[in-house]
Amino acid sequence: MTATRRSRRQAARIRDKVVVITGGARGIGLATASTLHGLGAQIAIGDIDEAAVKEAGTTHEFEYQGRLDVTDPASFEQFLDDVERTLGPIDVLINNAGIMPTGKLTDESDHVTRRILDINIYGVILGSKLGLHRMLPRGTGHVVNIASLAGETHLPGLATYNASKHAVVGFTDTLREEYHGSGLSFSSVLPTITNTELGSGLDSGPFRNAEPKEIADAVATLIARPKSKVRVTAVAGFVTRVVGLLPDRLGDRIGRALGSSHLVLDAVDSEQREAYEKRARSG
Ligand code: NAD
Repeated sequence: MTATRRSRRQAARIRDKVVVITGGARGIGLATASTLHGLGAQIAIGDIDEAAVKEAGTTHEFEYQGRLDVTDPASFEQFLDDVERTLGPIDVLINNAGIMPTGKLTDESDHVTRRILDINIYGVILGSKLGLHRMLPRGTGHVVNIASLAGETHLPGLATYNASKHAVVGFTDTLREEYHGSGLSFSSVLPTITNTELGSGLDSGPFRNAEPKEIADAVATLIARPKSKVRVTAVAGFVTRVVGLLPDRLGDRIGRALGSSHLVLDAVDSEQREAYEKRARSG
């Protein structure tokens, strides 16, 4: 099949779908919203940053935008109600909102620990639950959870974040089996370090960072042809999986040789991360 025919087919499968994206005001969420909008989907973005979500939604002429706190059941329910009232039944829910404060565990305040767990795990579980309540009676729908390659590996300086992303991968795999035969699809997306505010000051060692558009394209492919997981970049995903199959001591040694022991820790107090760390920790 030619590339043009493939992309026409993809657009046909995405066109007119109602897609909700949490944390859609910037970064991977916004890139995904923009790509899917370009393919004809009806886009609703929600974000805790009210000014940024308004600006993003207006600039990109999305069908719906609004304030959403994924850790607050009333806010999430209200947001989904408003989207369905405006655009109709939700076809795809992308649980993307997440934070990544960095540092050693002993330097992490309990407030920050709870915040990571609240947004990255509870927010995804809550969103999936609310999405399921709406999709199950219709026997159709797709829940896409943005995890990370950190959900299949471990990087010093990200212990709680790693834990949260392992949780998202395990949670999404379980839903796939729990609701097998329901007509619904469940997917995890596992990006490598990506050039967004969250990834600022970090580089992927011997691998290249991904661009948000690459994650967005992977999500578009996933929606057109649902599968359980997609890893971006393919090379970083492949190496992560192979290293994960090795005995721990050997895998850790290879990880250290690739720079994993200082990749994040070197950047914790860097100027490039200062603004992001402040935003991620507050609230
Ligand atoms: P980002 O900081 O650029 O964007 C995240 C958005 O989520 C922000 O607009 C923020 O306001 C929003 N948000 C935070 N808390 C929220 C809440 N309680 N309710 C609603 N919205 C909230 O980050 P990003 O890099 O685009 O990350 C998006 C997702 O991708 C996250 O889940 C992240 O863990 C994951 N990811 C990122 C990378 C990377 O290196 N950038 C790599 C792998 C996975």
